Amino acid sequence: MEGSLAVDEWNPAPQLHGKVPAGFLIEANLIGPDWIADYGSGHLDVTDPANGNTIGKVPSASASDVERALRTAALAFGRWKKVPARTRSAALRRWYELINEAKQELAQLLTAEQGKPLAEAAAEIEYAASFVRWYSEEAERVYGRTAPSPDGVSRLTVTKVPVGVVAAITPWNAPSSMVTRKVAPAIAAGCAVVLKPAEATPFSALALAKLALAAGIDAGVLNVVTGDPAAIGAVLTRSPLVRKLSFTGSTPVARNLLAAAAGTMMRVSLEAGGNAPFIVLPDAEVDAAVATAMVAKFRAGGQSCVAANRFFVHSSLYEPFAAEFTRRVRLLQVGAGSSGADVGPVIDVRAAARIGALIDDAVLSGATLLCGGHRKGTAFVVPAVVRDIQPGMRLFKEEVFGPVAGLCPFDDVDALVAALNEEETGLIAYVMGYDGRTLQALADRLDVGMVGLNTGLVSDASMPFGGMKCSGLGREGSREGIEAYLETKYVKAAR
Ligand code: ADP
Repeated sequence: MEGSLAVDEWNPAPQLHGKVPAGFLIEANLIGPDWIADYGSGHLDVTDPANGNTIGKVPSASASDVERALRTAALAFGRWKKVPARTRSAALRRWYELINEAKQELAQLLTAEQGKPLAEAAAEIEYAASFVRWYSEEAERVYGRTAPSPDGVSRLTVTKVPVGVVAAITPWNAPSSMVTRKVAPAIAAGCAVVLKPAEATPFSALALAKLALAAGIDAGVLNVVTGDPAAIGAVLTRSPLVRKLSFTGSTPVARNLLAAAAGTMMRVSLEAGGNAPFIVLPDAEVDAAVATAMVAKFRAGGQSCVAANRFFVHSSLYEPFAAEFTRRVRLLQVGAGSSGADVGPVIDVRAAARIGALIDDAVLSGATLLCGGHRKGTAFVVPAVVRDIQPGMRLFKEEVFGPVAGLCPFDDVDALVAALNEEETGLIAYVMGYDGRTLQALADRLDVGMVGLNTGLVSDASMPFGGMKCSGLGREGSREGIEAYLETKYVKAAR
């Protein structure tokens, strides 16, 4: 659906596009130690979202390729689970170092296929690396426990064992960090992985896999297959070899995968949509609230499940907040990620059109567009502020996944919290205010997995990331992140 807003003729600095570092663009799948460039079942073109140019292609894996990857992972699992935790830890530490050494190249590759500004891409590589470092350390801290024996003579122990072969499905909005957030804890736990990255951004995943091999992570412990998501997903969810599925992406796909996983009762971790509220309380300071809103909204051009989606501003601050936010948003430079712009393109033309349609729907239903919203070139959306959004509007109900902020005034914070808690999403909420006790009380009452109080940035490898309700199942990062790849085993020894 095309938005009715104008699409400018615009060609942003084409000479800066598609700069892909040599040696990092791998047009093959990884199964065991082998890079397989088999295009017999077709291929996927990977494009630079800034201009639509093809930067490379990857194979469309067939069902038998995926099954081979799973068998390879199963064999590798048999070996890797017996490798001492300290050795697994050392290999992960080396992977972390190699990622850091290649930070610039990985960031360029990420920008070329995903579009985000180079500085953000570099920050994402650091974030991606932080999961590898964290889990290199956690590998040695997988503790079980002993319990007092009820009969006084038995020995009761609880141990943690790796769950087995893991299927990991990752999205395009954070194509490196979503890979390491799943793969590093799985490998640390002693599991082997078959990874399916998103169609739009396979190269970041493949480059990370190359570095994992170079780091000494055994061949077969990490395998990467690319291609048709539904076909690969069907093989992964039906295979009795897969013991754990970890997915990040949209809520409808999460639901389908959860249903499909029921067949084998594989363990499931899901991270799905957010629709995050950003609440500005009456005692907030407007400039600080706006500065934080900019961070919470515009990272990755708003294409993040934790991006603030709707801004609920107390009516006493609504006008000054709207004015200052609009002033700041107008200053954002839009352009190719490699050009030093603040906001890159959205992932593709279809996404840009969908975002335009969300704005159109809001404006037709009575909201007011304060700035931006029109498209430039192919997939560029000029950052927009829309005021007076209401519950019936798509901009209120759907995740924007783009650089558009909807504002909504409120008077009664209790009514707002009650309404938010009735929604089906519950990933993250941001709250701005002065009084610490009020903030903490709100954090306690919101049914979300994560809360940012006076901050727009909460993600950290050492903290559990994930949502309540339909926003997901399970947590990634922190201790919970490795638990997700462990089974619990209880042994009673009579004496
Ligand atoms: P988005 O709408 O943001 O692209 P998706 O949920 O479609 O989110 O994509 C997230 C990941 O899920 C990607 O790797 C994508 O290829 C994969 N995916 C999409 N559809 C399916 C499916 N039917 N089965 C398995 N994986 C899928």
